[in-house]
Amino acid sequence: MPLPVVPDLSIVVPLYNEEESIGPLVDAVRDALGAAVSWELVLVDDGSGDATVQRAQSLAAADGRIVLVELARNYGQTQAMQAGFDAACGRLVVSMDGDLQNDPRDIPLLIAKLDEGYDLVAGYRMRRQDKMITRKIPSWVANRIIIWLTGVRIRDNGCSLKAYRRELLDQLHLYSDMHRFLPALAAATANARIAEVPVRHHARRFGTSKYGLSRIAKLLADLLTIKMIASFRESPLAMFGFGALASVVIAMAFAAAWLWPFAQRTGPLDSAHVNAYVLPGSALLCVALAAFLTMLGLIAEEALQKARFEERDDRIAARAVTG
Ligand code: UDP
Ligand code: MG
Repeated sequence: MPLPVVPDLSIVVPLYNEEESIGPLVDAVRDALGAAVSWELVLVDDGSGDATVQRAQSLAAADGRIVLVELARNYGQTQAMQAGFDAACGRLVVSMDGDLQNDPRDIPLLIAKLDEGYDLVAGYRMRRQDKMITRKIPSWVANRIIIWLTGVRIRDNGCSLKAYRRELLDQLHLYSDMHRFLPALAAATANARIAEVPVRHHARRFGTSKYGLSRIAKLLADLLTIKMIASFRESPLAMFGFGALASVVIAMAFAAAWLWPFAQRTGPLDSAHVNAYVLPGSALLCVALAAFLTMLGLIAEEALQKARFEERDDRIAARAVTG
């Protein structure tokens, strides 16, 4: 029996209701890559309600290089990409959108750059063909915030056309909407070497965009998570401990403000001070908050420790398998 051929390059494409784009997309990938490299195209159907799956199935049946991953429901672009990364066999992996807005003719440029020794090559869209108010301006602001928060200077985080080394993807786990700042995540968690190349961008020809302005709230929440991962990944207790310390200082200030009139007292006790509950109550609340934050920090440390042990076990198991 012939051994299955493992491709050098996997192209991962998430698809949600892209029935009209999928045929031209597969043709465009074939034209761009030809037979010069061994490749596979991993199509991930993210619970489409149209004919995307049926069309993808017949395309996969006709060409052995096309792999179809079917998700049970609509999980979102990030989760679809992660499912595609998990299924991909290539030493190098490229992600791109399935709506023909990215151009497969740019893939060889990304790969050439990756071969210069980078772990991740991010495309940035020249002359981006999207709406100004709902797309380009929010995206511009988001890119500035990402640079400011993470220190990773990537021009166009939202461009899906990116290339990665397998080893890098193995260290990442994408959830929520995190594909949008994959470079920052890669830099923070895996110390990835990152480069950028300009890529083409086309207006959507078929179907509609799956996003509106509502993505902004999710993006901000994810950014906070990234910032936390980047700053306190090694020691969450340090972050929570800092909060606990600040609470203790505030508690002491409340206690001092409460006790001060007693220390100053020369005559009989002022009933207004004796009956005042606000200051001692606030001090107690701050002490409770400090205790709570310390406990959270300890739990986070414990979870991190567990994750490290699991990582170590995985490494040992992988070594055992490879001999
Ligand atoms: N997509 C997906 N699941 C979703 C939303 C989008 O797989 O829940 C896919 C979509 O089919 C497309 C890519 O993600 O291939 C980018 O989506 P879209 O073009 O709507 O985003 P935009 O280009 O408008 O930012
Ligand atoms: Mg699009």
